[in-house]
Amino acid sequence: VGAVESRGSAWERLVAKAQREDVLAAAITAVAILLFAGIGMKVVPRAVYALMESHGGVDRVASTALLLNVALLLFSWRRYKDAIAERSRRVEAEERAEILSSRDQLTNLLVLNSISDTGNRTIEEARAQGQQVAMLVVNLDRFKNINDVYGHIAGDAVLRAVSDAIISTVPPEALCARIGADEFAVIFPFCESARETVADIAEHIVFRLREPVEINGVHVHGSASIGISRTGRDCGTIEGLLRRANIAMHTAKEIGADRAIWFDTSMESVLRARNEIESGLRRGVPLGEFVPYFQPQVDIDTGDICGLEALARWNHPAGGVVGPDLFIPVAEETGMIGDMFESVFRQALLEARLWDPSLILSVNVSPGQLKDPWLSHRILKVLTEVSFPPERLEIEITESSLFENLAVAQTIVTSLKNQGVRLALDDFGTGYSSLAHLRALPFDRIKIDRSFVQNMLKDPQSLAIVSAVTAMSRSLSVPVTAEGVEDGETLRMLREVGCDKAQGWHFGRPRSAEETRLILDAKGLLKQGLAPPSDETTITLGLDVGRAA
Ligand SMILES: [Mg+2]
Repeated sequence: VGAVESRGSAWERLVAKAQREDVLAAAITAVAILLFAGIGMKVVPRAVYALMESHGGVDRVASTALLLNVALLLFSWRRYKDAIAERSRRVEAEERAEILSSRDQLTNLLVLNSISDTGNRTIEEARAQGQQVAMLVVNLDRFKNINDVYGHIAGDAVLRAVSDAIISTVPPEALCARIGADEFAVIFPFCESARETVADIAEHIVFRLREPVEINGVHVHGSASIGISRTGRDCGTIEGLLRRANIAMHTAKEIGADRAIWFDTSMESVLRARNEIESGLRRGVPLGEFVPYFQPQVDIDTGDICGLEALARWNHPAGGVVGPDLFIPVAEETGMIGDMFESVFRQALLEARLWDPSLILSVNVSPGQLKDPWLSHRILKVLTEVSFPPERLEIEITESSLFENLAVAQTIVTSLKNQGVRLALDDFGTGYSSLAHLRALPFDRIKIDRSFVQNMLKDPQSLAIVSAVTAMSRSLSVPVTAEGVEDGETLRMLREVGCDKAQGWHFGRPRSAEETRLILDAKGLLKQGLAPPSDETTITLGLDVGRAA
């Protein structure tokens, strides 16, 4: 923007200078004409008289002035013509620059800035004819991969092919623009009775963009997601259409990409809620609003607490305690997961330092975090800062996150293991991990997903899976924790199949740090000499929102 502004003011200065020069040249010409008229009226009659009467007395000074005046007149006239020519050249250059800036150089489509005026005119004209205007926002799926794998020249070729495919699919009167690196907008009028035509066009674009593009003998496959919006009572500008089509396009991506969907007002409220969570994260993480809650993990044989799992909760200033299902996906999407995790992790470690040294602290790492190659460094840095023994920390990784990126996960896990941190495979049975995964990563524990544990009494298949996983783990010498134990009967069954640890509401829901401290103190599981704060004598049995094992 700064560059555009400074370019704008430079241009204005240039135009002002040119105008000053024009005025100056015109003024000199005018003065020269007046002088010529003045001097000429005196000198010419005398000269004529002198010639006719052979009178030798022509005023030398006056005739020299007249000659000089003629020269000045010629000079200023020439200058004036030059200035005019220069100005028309400038105007031409300006027009050329305007055309260049309104067109995308790669695809020759319009650019974002230039569709606003033209598009709003299209809306006005359509309204006058009783028609509506549709906008499609076309975004290529995973276009960055194409650039990364085949290079930018291939990427440009794909963009040109996409632009050609769009132009050949949309109605001839449609305005097409490239509005982002891999994003296009199409605007065209349509009759209310032909609403399906709009969807058909969008579907056809999706279909066309699935076709591979051949670049240097290689077939590059791609796809696109399209959001569709249309003018209506509450949407009558290009900006409004663009915003709605964009929301629909993002929704299309979220539900699996490679499709076209119409904007729906419910999408807006989802987006608003998401934005509220995002601003809540930005505000709340530094304020320590995101805190660990702790749920006990119990030895099935002895009934003793052997560890606690830290579960992130949001102490919302207005909305009470919010569960992680709401904020973790947004934190991952916005890249704030790292900061949020570090804040909660640090608080959990500080709290766990107060517990009996025999208690293990389990911490969940989300799938998004496992894509961060620096994750192990971050974890180890906090461990060192808080001086927490690594062997008391157990990192829980879900199966699905392993499947997404085994190579990076392996590096992270190896570096954590080398420092003595334990490793648990979380939610086992819900993802895609194979025995190969179990062998590839040195897990210290497997946690059977609650869906099997909770159904094992009434569903023989779930029971079979729990028994099989337990048997397999025993032969691999990896202990098993059952998640989601809610009653004594399930616990008895788990003891029978040979499961060694359990976690769930039967033993306690996730509780705040203060409540956990009281529970541990009652069992003599706080570090020697540590007493809980004196003003807290009761445990409030508040209901948890969100996930609890
Ligand atoms: Mg877990």
